[in-house]
Amino acid sequence: MKVGIIGAGQLGRMLALAGHPLGLDFVFVDTSADAPGARVGALIPGRFDDPAVLGRLAEASDIVTFDVENVPEEAAWTVAERVPFLPPPPALGAGQDRLAEKRLFRSLDIPVADYGPVDGPDDLAAALERVGLPAVLKTRRLGYDGRGQQMLQHPGDVEGAWERLGGVPAILERFVRFDRELSLVGVRSVSGETAFYPLSENTHAGGILRRTRAPWEDPALYDLAVGHLSSLMDHLAYAGVLTVEFFAVGKTLYANEMAPRVHNSGHWTIEGAATSQFENHLRAILDLPLGSTEPLGHSGMVNFISRMPAARDVLAIPHAHLHDYVKAPRPGRKLGHCTVVARTPEARDGALAQVEHLISES
Ligand code: AMP
Repeated sequence: MKVGIIGAGQLGRMLALAGHPLGLDFVFVDTSADAPGARVGALIPGRFDDPAVLGRLAEASDIVTFDVENVPEEAAWTVAERVPFLPPPPALGAGQDRLAEKRLFRSLDIPVADYGPVDGPDDLAAALERVGLPAVLKTRRLGYDGRGQQMLQHPGDVEGAWERLGGVPAILERFVRFDRELSLVGVRSVSGETAFYPLSENTHAGGILRRTRAPWEDPALYDLAVGHLSSLMDHLAYAGVLTVEFFAVGKTLYANEMAPRVHNSGHWTIEGAATSQFENHLRAILDLPLGSTEPLGHSGMVNFISRMPAARDVLAIPHAHLHDYVKAPRPGRKLGHCTVVARTPEARDGALAQVEHLISES
């Protein structure tokens, strides 16, 4: 079996690393010949919206999936006409536009923070009436890792804010004073079998995920999150891994965004769960039985952003596992991560503190 992956970033690389033991081969499409996935599979160089390139990928693959979210839905359909393309193209489309995503959540009774569409300066004033300050102005499309967002704290921040964001279609969201950020990674196979990992607790800074700890034990919130994810999966006739990021406020979970793919907040599952999110994504799209999502201890994950610490220093920390994506360093770029899996939350937090100390020094 050959699995085609659009995008050869770290997610594609970790999918291939999980799929090799299952006897799977991989072929990627990426513009960059030294992308992380190119070391663990074949590469078709080119853009993922180029029909000729996608045609070659469909030709070379038994099934196609993706590791980047901004593949245009139309491009996905051109592949889907020739080979199975999973998660299904509408799921890809649903996560690409923050406004459509919020409307989808609402239509499924999944709570979201108050918001309003902003297509121009007048809309911003109208949305502010509804949402109030503080608020976050976000581009509807192509924002990730904190890009394409502006915090509006004071009335003085409002003038010119939409223009500063590039004058593109945007939404204004109420700033949620959350207790914590949680995410749920779930998986649904082609036959409709589902499995859910425990909740992950996430810490962001500058819009980028810095640290995840799991399992986050809260049975009531877990049931709520599973209900929300299940509604989305059913609605989208989903196959593969699906992630939703939530803001937890008291007993309510507000959905922030969904990702129709394996997710950074699920990287801990490689060593910290019976079956990783990457293996389960492959099992799901190939309609194989899903693997257990049971946690194997108390896990923590720290992202290495902008620079990698020395491997020797990371590996000297008890319970630490290093993942180097072999990417050229650039400010704000995710270059690797480290997972710790320990028997107790205290041992896990102690090891995490050592990893965080290491990156604060480097
Ligand atoms: P996003 O790109 O929408 O996932 O936003 C990245 C991060 O910015 C989130 O994980 C939060 O930490 C923060 N953030 C984004 N939107 C809001 C909001 N409406 N209220 C509070 N924090 C937010």
